[in-house]
Amino acid sequence: MNDAHHDFSWQGIRLRVPAEWELGRVDGDAKSGYARLDDARMVRAEVEWRAAPVRGARRPVSDLVDRYIEQLQKKADKSGMEFSVQRQARFLRDKRWLEGSEYETFIWEADYRAYNLARACPECHRIVLMRVLAPVGENAEALVNEVLPSLEDHPREADGGRNLWSVYGMRFLAPVDFELTEYELKSGHIRLTFQKDGGNRTLRIHRLSMAQMLLRDHDLEDWYPSFFRKDLRDFLFTVHPARISNHAGVLVQGGPRSRWRQILRPLPMVNPRPRRYLQGAAWHCPEQNRICVVEHLSKKRPEGEDDFLKELIDGYVCHTEQATSDARLDDELATGPQRAAALGEDGDR
Ligand SMILES: [Zn+2]
Ligand SMILES: [Zn+2]
Repeated sequence: MNDAHHDFSWQGIRLRVPAEWELGRVDGDAKSGYARLDDARMVRAEVEWRAAPVRGARRPVSDLVDRYIEQLQKKADKSGMEFSVQRQARFLRDKRWLEGSEYETFIWEADYRAYNLARACPECHRIVLMRVLAPVGENAEALVNEVLPSLEDHPREADGGRNLWSVYGMRFLAPVDFELTEYELKSGHIRLTFQKDGGNRTLRIHRLSMAQMLLRDHDLEDWYPSFFRKDLRDFLFTVHPARISNHAGVLVQGGPRSRWRQILRPLPMVNPRPRRYLQGAAWHCPEQNRICVVEHLSKKRPEGEDDFLKELIDGYVCHTEQATSDARLDDELATGPQRAAALGEDGDR
């Protein structure tokens, strides 16, 4: 058994879970969404979140639980599966962290035994329904008491207005006013795109695995423009070697190409691309065998020193002392079952 733990964090939902638990599926956005964590064997946890209604009163948490259980009961009846529920179940040893919030803990048992918490956060008013799953007959209370209380549903004050994104061992603090607009979670390449001000500003965060292989025949200075050729086609840019996060890296600066060049393209008016400025950094983390990239694109020309880029680099934790378990998972992810392929798919749940 492996005692290592890591953080899972997505759309402000943060959990500390056994290192084998990783994202198996994710849907939705900050307002309403769903994430599922699996280990190699089975689904281990599910989280659903919803922002409190803007207008009108929120329904009591117990109503939510009523409705959720009704749905499960219907499903069970249809499939002829045995289903039992224990409302207001007492399986949490320490409830101090829930003080001040409206919540209910309950257990349902069907093909699995699920330890549930439904809660409305007194601070951000988000409503979260979370469950930890265990095989029927297995005593999972120690595990449940470890994982459930680690739940956080809004950014930490200590993170200074930034939101942690932590998935497959990639950790990045994004400013909270940037919204996730796109993501790709492929084994070798994780890419998160955030936007602010209706797309006036964009962040692109990348994490490439197996850096040693990618950099076998190139140094970073050559690799970056060739790997991001498509993303860079509208920019005039320069790439300079630089020391970043104590690693060998490059700084990238770009501006829009001249209008003429864009006009001379076929069909320029059909799909004129926005003229933007680019400030970016890429570095090679040998500890994790990864290449980390942050890019900030803006319609306004950046002025002077780019403190914002520094903040982005600072928010990207490429390796930590105990990161070896993540690197191991990285390799499993790259070679193992197609877990990442299921992401974003819509199925029944
Ligand atoms: Zn909250
Ligand atoms: Zn590093």
